[in-house]
Amino acid sequence: MPSGTHDIFYTDEQRMLRDNVRRFAEERILPEAARIDRDDRFPRALYRELAGLGLFGICLAERFGGAGMETTSACIAMEEIARASGSMGNAFAIPVEASVFLSEHGNEAQRRLIPGILDGSILPATAVTEPDHGSDVAGLRTTAVRDGDHYVINGTKAWVTLGRVADFVMVFARTGSAEGGRSISCFLVECDRPGLARGKAEELMGMHGLEDCMLSFSDVRVPAANLIGAENEAFKTAMRNFNFSRLMMSSMALGMAVAGFEDAMAYAHQRRQFGQPIFDFQAVQFMLADMSVDIDAARLLIHNAARVFDAGHSAAKEAAQAKLFTTDMAMKHITNALQIHGGNGYSREYRVERLFRDIKLSQIYEGTNQIQRLIIARQIQREFRVRA
Ligand SMILES: Cc1cc2nc3c(=O)[nH]c(=O)nc-3n(C[C@H](O)[C@H](O)[C@H](O)COP(=O)(O)OP(=O)(O)OC[C@H]3O[C@@H](n4cnc5c(N)ncnc54)[C@H](O)[C@@H]3O)c2cc1C
Repeated sequence: MPSGTHDIFYTDEQRMLRDNVRRFAEERILPEAARIDRDDRFPRALYRELAGLGLFGICLAERFGGAGMETTSACIAMEEIARASGSMGNAFAIPVEASVFLSEHGNEAQRRLIPGILDGSILPATAVTEPDHGSDVAGLRTTAVRDGDHYVINGTKAWVTLGRVADFVMVFARTGSAEGGRSISCFLVECDRPGLARGKAEELMGMHGLEDCMLSFSDVRVPAANLIGAENEAFKTAMRNFNFSRLMMSSMALGMAVAGFEDAMAYAHQRRQFGQPIFDFQAVQFMLADMSVDIDAARLLIHNAARVFDAGHSAAKEAAQAKLFTTDMAMKHITNALQIHGGNGYSREYRVERLFRDIKLSQIYEGTNQIQRLIIARQIQREFRVRA
């Protein structure tokens, strides 16, 4: 399918990036996507191949071995990867975010992990959520208590993407008695430390192959040097990080919506009922017309937020707007893309069935869409007060 006109404002570098990633995604990821969904195992070899494109450090400063590109480029790459496989898009986000996080907040020893993250040999994971604290991040209960030159970590983390296979996990834990976000710190915990136990792989509706699991920490001792950034500062850091990761998730949902749109367009032209292609029915045309509008609108919102973020602003409102709009529109339009496929859409024979299962997650993680609305409301109230 031609790329339309949205890329006329891309730089030559961005267009080249898009074309290279698209080629890899179509030749290498797309043929594997159904197998990844079926097997529900982390596709390590394919992940290493993706790493070989040099994209895991796309936004990482060049002095850390990254490409030093702007956030928009990461969004463009993500759209193409997720257009081929939501799971691989999800996997792509992890090293991109972890390498930037360690470069900005890690000490020298922690930064030495970056080359391994970039070439795909070291798998990172992030553990914020707990069984009783999801949206309420500031209420998390895992503790890290200082004991000489170590911290001792106790608690349980839930839904850790790549938790079953990760080499290390960035664990958010409470290091002080202050309630809320003021006493949360982040630790780099190697997954072979005594006391760390991985739960069984979660059986998920979609986004298969990412080996999510619970992690439990029972008197896990880590050297004090494993603290990432300053003690008690991790909540603020995490919140800023979310602004970047929400743009990655938005682009992931966008890529999946594009895939749904393309499949629905092709099916609507090929499938005939009442002696004509179903595309000729206005009811079907209008669903597709609405999809094209929302897909283009979402991309503009994402790229706008990426520019705000790269300009050094918080981008909390813009990233939340992009995440809310893109994931809601993707859920709605992939549902319609399935509808256009009729009974075939309900069959595993057709990709749209997988898209439908995979896309739901995008409205739930990286902050649910109810939480995105809270963030937007808080920001617009702040803007209103400043103007008043
Ligand atoms: C497949 C998968 C992978 C994940 N990967 C990771 C990971 O790698 N690392 C990690 O740390 N976490 C991860 N998560 C966790 C994810 O970020 C949380 O599931 C998410 O933040 C929501 O938390 P919760 O599930 O506890 O829902 P809850 O917070 O219990 O929310 C339940 C419902 O209540 C609503 N709600 C809650 N509070 C409010 C409020 N104040 N106002 C309005 N509505 C509200 C929510 O929007 C939601 O609809 C993952 C989750 C899944 C399912």
